[in-house]
Amino acid sequence: MSYGALLETMGQVNDVLNAKSVLSWDARTMMPPGGAVTRAKQLATLAVIARDLLVADSTRSQLDAAEAEVASMESDSIERTMVAQVREAIDYHLRIPAKLLHRRTELGSTGQTVWQTARANSDFAAFAPILEQTVALNREMADVIGYADHPYDALMHRFEPGETVASLTPLFARLKEGLLPIVRAIADRPEPRMDFLTRAYPEDQQLAFGRLMAQKVGYDLNRGRVDKTVHPFEVSFTRNDVRITTRFNKNHMPMSLFGAMHEAGHALYEQGVDDAYTRTPLATDLIGLYAVGGVSFGAHESQSRLWENHVGRARAFWDIHFKDAQEFYPEQLGDVSVDEFYRAINRCKPGFIRVESDELTYDFHIMLRVELERQLVDGSLKVKDLPEAWNACVKAYLGLDVPNDAQGLLQDVHWSSGQIGTFCNYTIGNVMAGQLFETAKSDPVIAAGLEAGNYEALRGYMAENIHQHGRRYSRDELLIRATGRALDPEPYVAYLTKKYTELYAL
Ligand code: ZN
Repeated sequence: MSYGALLETMGQVNDVLNAKSVLSWDARTMMPPGGAVTRAKQLATLAVIARDLLVADSTRSQLDAAEAEVASMESDSIERTMVAQVREAIDYHLRIPAKLLHRRTELGSTGQTVWQTARANSDFAAFAPILEQTVALNREMADVIGYADHPYDALMHRFEPGETVASLTPLFARLKEGLLPIVRAIADRPEPRMDFLTRAYPEDQQLAFGRLMAQKVGYDLNRGRVDKTVHPFEVSFTRNDVRITTRFNKNHMPMSLFGAMHEAGHALYEQGVDDAYTRTPLATDLIGLYAVGGVSFGAHESQSRLWENHVGRARAFWDIHFKDAQEFYPEQLGDVSVDEFYRAINRCKPGFIRVESDELTYDFHIMLRVELERQLVDGSLKVKDLPEAWNACVKAYLGLDVPNDAQGLLQDVHWSSGQIGTFCNYTIGNVMAGQLFETAKSDPVIAAGLEAGNYEALRGYMAENIHQHGRRYSRDELLIRATGRALDPEPYVAYLTKKYTELYAL
């Protein structure tokens, strides 16, 4: 029964982390600003309780006994997988001194305030001391966590287990080689018509249309809901309550529409995790201390990107659904053809802001962040030299001169929360989505469904190959089971090449 006792303790860890997620969802959607200081303390307390319960002497005794109990089972059995994950997580957390965690929490809360002011004033010098402390603290973290080749590997492990500087370098090289010439060629081509996207789109209609499209791809609102926020996100409190948020710009309708489809993609993942894994390590990130069923941030992003881009920005999708859009917005889209709409939502135009960038240039924003973070962590780049290095990368990849720090290296919230190593998952998600979509579409039933506006077969493929497994298999194990090989950039490069060559008649 020791295995059963360990599972019950892991259920309690999962409960505490889900309660923390509820408080965090509330803070980002409903909470009045005055609640911020006490809410931050409540969240920090729950994180400490979850960690203490995970590494408690009593839990470790349960783990020792459970290991003995399951030792004779198959090495890939669910029981042995879960026990091994608990062992790995406890070992991980015991390597990080409480002092260091406490410093990260403190730095995260001061960092946010300093960053907000620095960004508002476009003043990197005001934020630089915080970033210096963040880099030093993350370097200490990497040293206690341990790594084989590069300290950045230890930091990525929490978000994208198994990813390393050595594995990212050739991946990025292939993406640059494949995609940069297309970005350059598009710069000389005429712009599509864009005027109708910036007409006035009432917010309640945007919310209703985003919700309709999220439902069309299979988001179950009986176990979900859609709310408004400043920075869109998905969060789950077990598979039975998976919520999404979206943001609105009255004069830019695609923001809420593709925001909703993106977050619905994340939500499908969590809603599809096997019910038998609820409250177990297979639906809990015990390293990151986060109640989530997806196996890595990159795997999660593959699902959001797949539904947002491969499905939602495809010509076939709008051949079916443009009439729905026109019904919702007769005045705004009445004089627009489906072809004009399709070209407008896929316009490629290099810009300064990552979250506003198009499908083709997005990865360049990610690659430059990962490359600069890696250099900061290994000491080859100093914080004082970061603005110059940032602006040089933007010039090299996007051909733009950064006008100020707010539109440059102060735009993202990530560093202000004390974290480094969080960016690579966006590009890994894109690459993984390309690979999964290529294989899925080779099934004639799925391909026919996409042409007919029926997404059940594609969702079923993702549920069977990805969602249901929760955290049982690693990202690359999932890819090998689904497509026959580990992460491979070729399908993604081929997809973007074909799409943009056609769009811009290159
Ligand atoms: Zn996402």
